[in-house]
Amino acid sequence: MRFGPTGISVTPAERYEGAAGNRWPMSIMPAPGELLSSWLHRLAYANGIPPHYFGALLGAPGQNWSARLDRAMPDRILQFLGEHTHIPLEDIAALTIAPDPLARLRLPLRASPQQSCAPKTQATWLQFCPACLAEDETPYFRRGWSLATRVSCFHHGCRLRDRCPSCGGGLAPFSQKRLVPHQICARCGAALCKRTRPATNGVRRLERLIDDLLRLQAAGHRMAEGRSLPDLLGSACFQFGKQSVSIVRLPHRDRYQLFQKLAEGRSTPFEKRRSSAIIYWKRVVQAAPAWSGLVTSFSDAVLPRPKAGPCSTTAGPHLADLVQAAARLDQQRQAL
Ligand SMILES: [Zn+2]
Ligand SMILES: [Zn+2]
Repeated sequence: MRFGPTGISVTPAERYEGAAGNRWPMSIMPAPGELLSSWLHRLAYANGIPPHYFGALLGAPGQNWSARLDRAMPDRILQFLGEHTHIPLEDIAALTIAPDPLARLRLPLRASPQQSCAPKTQATWLQFCPACLAEDETPYFRRGWSLATRVSCFHHGCRLRDRCPSCGGGLAPFSQKRLVPHQICARCGAALCKRTRPATNGVRRLERLIDDLLRLQAAGHRMAEGRSLPDLLGSACFQFGKQSVSIVRLPHRDRYQLFQKLAEGRSTPFEKRRSSAIIYWKRVVQAAPAWSGLVTSFSDAVLPRPKAGPCSTTAGPHLADLVQAAARLDQQRQAL
């Protein structure tokens, strides 16, 4: 790799070029559920290029370059990545969040260069579970962490973070100019894996129910009258100070408190104007305590009983997967 006044270039040595062709020296396999920007930062790091310069190499310079590619991947960059890695184009495209049926619930990406300095009252573009980053063999950021309806980790039961625990800035791995892995804050150099407190059971039940409902929607189960669940959840406004805002505009701290108030039945700052969105939120909150019973009875009916063995530490099956399995069983019965 060379840095020069006209930019950077990666030039393989002659013998390597003969053996590997256009391929970059290191090709990184995407991890399950990984966000495109996370994979791009790991790919850059593995090939010895700080992420800030890798954006320019891909032809996507500027602020938030990798996070912008998460939301819209130009075909020329997809082709370029395909040529230089051994990853199939469809696998690279699948790491993006485009097209995005959950766009209404996605945390906002601001064009401002001050994105990484978002005030504490503002949402940032991405959250993370410090325990996941600490345990990952190669730490990576998940697509699900960009949703405003996520406030805890389903695997660890702890709260997510949306800011560096040391400097309080939002994540800015795309602007890292040194060769440092992306689990280190690009602003202050602190590790992002400092543990968070556990989320309450009530918050976790509410969050899981919403996640299951969104998965059902993504799997093709539509609400009555063609209504969109993400639009309904995202259009409800809550009163915070003098502002009336939807959950995508709230930082993690405020969204977690909101979920806690909803789960505990405490006075919730719904805006005064009654709307179908607020009525729907209230219905989801009422249904949440029955979530685990619903999943267990569905699971018992649809899945074979697990053999006796060590207890699983996973978060259990997703309701959407169970409904899909039930639908397949029903189809098979009808075909007999
Ligand atoms: Zn986790
Ligand atoms: Zn920091």
